[in-house]
Amino acid sequence: MTDRLYYHDSFLYNFDAEIRSVVETPRPALILDRTAFYPTSGGQIHDTGWLVSTDKRLHVTEVSEAEDGRIVHYLDAPLKDAQPGTRVRGEIDAARRRDHMQQHSAQHVLSAAFVSLFNMPTVSFHMADDYCSIDLDTPSLNRDQVEAAERAANEIMIENRSVEVRYVTRDEAEKLGLRKLPPAERDQLRLIDIRDWDLTACGGTHVSSTGQIGGILLRKTEKARQGYRVEFVAGQRAVSTARRDFSNLTETAALFSAGIYDVPQQARKALDEVKSLRKQREQSLEELASAQATTLLTETSETNGRKLVIRTFSDRDLNFLKLLGQKLTRQSSAVIALLATESPQPALVFAQSAGQPHDMGALLKETMARLGGRGGGSKDLAQGGVAKSEGLAAALAAAAQTLAP
Ligand SMILES: [Zn+2]
Repeated sequence: MTDRLYYHDSFLYNFDAEIRSVVETPRPALILDRTAFYPTSGGQIHDTGWLVSTDKRLHVTEVSEAEDGRIVHYLDAPLKDAQPGTRVRGEIDAARRRDHMQQHSAQHVLSAAFVSLFNMPTVSFHMADDYCSIDLDTPSLNRDQVEAAERAANEIMIENRSVEVRYVTRDEAEKLGLRKLPPAERDQLRLIDIRDWDLTACGGTHVSSTGQIGGILLRKTEKARQGYRVEFVAGQRAVSTARRDFSNLTETAALFSAGIYDVPQQARKALDEVKSLRKQREQSLEELASAQATTLLTETSETNGRKLVIRTFSDRDLNFLKLLGQKLTRQSSAVIALLATESPQPALVFAQSAGQPHDMGALLKETMARLGGRGGGSKDLAQGGVAKSEGLAAALAAAAQTLAP
């Protein structure tokens, strides 16, 4: 087993060690006799840093825990001449470690807050690069509870309570009323004791007093498999998250020429306006299509008992074309409409009054085969889109040719 120096001192960022073995994996990796590098475990992600030998400084990109308790340090390049007995110096990326200690310690404080206020135990903890989350075993969680837990956790932080590590036997631990007792496999347990607030078994790295957490900000909550998931950020992460939120809000507020706290009200107002304008627009288009259908039918003379309307527009969208097709074929019982538009998206609509003998779906498919587009529809109404507007008018003329009475 590797001697874990971080168990005794979370603030130990530099240490000397000896190579125990060079691991045969696709990535170069080393096992040392002792290490201050924390391996990914218990929800906390691994440290990074450097291993330095007499002439080389290699980046430690990942640290993991093998089943036999040895800690594996993955490197970005092989350490030449590395062999058992070679002395190396380890340097932990201190900023990253401090951040992890803040997040992980915040988790202890927060989990205890949810237990003491609402009897909601934490069933799992997850640490990602930008935020952390805990899963609470509870059938419900409301905004007031989230805010109360956040306030309580920050009170504990402000009080700057001591965070101590001690070792006890399993029997002793069972009598102490821990927040969380790990499954029975170890004789000795490492306890993290936040004075008069939280006592739990944990192998991670923590701050030495709660003030070092530097702030706890609760974020999104969502229903999770076993209750509710609560996202949070602590320390510098809380500051940078709040900074990002503020920048976003400021940018949005400027769009409305409003103060940041008026944004929800302004956004609601703008959305209501959009909804009402959309409704007005639909109504206007309906009226326009109706009027245009009347004009087109007046302009088109009847041949063999029907009117054939062929029209290519330069700037109508497909929806309007469909609307116009419907109006044309409903205003009169013997109309066939072959319509196209060149922009914004070149498209075609073929329509006929109910009872007319042709098949608009089949005719449109044939036309699409000529133009290289896609589309289809029913016997009386069909639509399709093409990539280019060239040849639309000619295609309509060709389609009309096939509609001999
Ligand atoms: Zn912990």
